[in-house]
Amino acid sequence: MKEPRCDWPARVEYCVRPDAVAAQVAQWRGAPGLRVDEFRQYGGRQVYALTFGRGARRLFVSRPHAHEPAGTAACMELARALMGEYASCDEWRTWALERFTLTLVPDANPGGSARAPVEFWDGTQIANEQFFLWMFGESGAEPGVRFPRVDAWDSSEVVPPSLIGIAYEQLDDTLYVEPNRDYRSTFFRSFFDLDEQFDYDVWLDLHQTEFERSDRNAAVFLPTCQDELAETWQARHRSLGEAIMVRWRQLDARPLDGLHIPYRSDDVQRQYLDQVWYPISERLVHLVTEVQNNNPATPIAEQVQLQIEAVQTTLAWMAANPN
Ligand SMILES: [Zn+2]
Repeated sequence: MKEPRCDWPARVEYCVRPDAVAAQVAQWRGAPGLRVDEFRQYGGRQVYALTFGRGARRLFVSRPHAHEPAGTAACMELARALMGEYASCDEWRTWALERFTLTLVPDANPGGSARAPVEFWDGTQIANEQFFLWMFGESGAEPGVRFPRVDAWDSSEVVPPSLIGIAYEQLDDTLYVEPNRDYRSTFFRSFFDLDEQFDYDVWLDLHQTEFERSDRNAAVFLPTCQDELAETWQARHRSLGEAIMVRWRQLDARPLDGLHIPYRSDDVQRQYLDQVWYPISERLVHLVTEVQNNNPATPIAEQVQLQIEAVQTTLAWMAANPN
């Protein structure tokens, strides 16, 4: 593709922690060309949505899960470039601001992120078994056993976990939701509120997973309801997904062969997701990136780079594929 690309400056430190993100946003606030929307979480933290550009094509990018920090770092890096802080990105920046309206939600659950014991999961400190307990919690009834992954739970109705999973978002004194599966989450609230104003064409969600017992380190997930979508929408989802995979291979990443429809053989999980995502995926392109988490085979800089490149590729794809 002939669209300009930004060669990202190498960094030793990324902006990831909720307090660091809030401080950076406070510094940028009021800058010309940047719109900041805020969505307050129970507990008081703010979810920020940073909107750049005034172009006709509209992209929403978010990081839903608090145990998957590379997406936050990537959004903050993209914001830095769009703020004009990277000279090497100037050509790309001008191109992007003219053509697109781009909303970045770097962290849709800062309340969860604040509970994380590490800034990044690089696989050197915490084994996956322990990581899984941090993710969705540890059972309060059976020590060492994972608390289940559900769309919502209420501590007045179940034996509360001894460790509350950082992926969950607290909505009141006792209610917690899985942000990606419950419209009451601040993640979905931020999207629906801004979508009413901007009417997005594409939504890219930056996720991470472990790729246990695999030599692969990246994947694009199609909607769980992909097969039920109209053929034109199926084709759009596939086309963008393939563009991201091509780019990742150019960078020597090791994506899964082909595009993936998750939970094909897990009716329960698929139904949770279909219910929530079908009404969205039938009217805009919604894709999920999965970059390896908690494994030394994918160091932090590569985790972040693969997410940044997925967003850059999405913009290039949108420019080349008018609606
Ligand atoms: Zn995730």
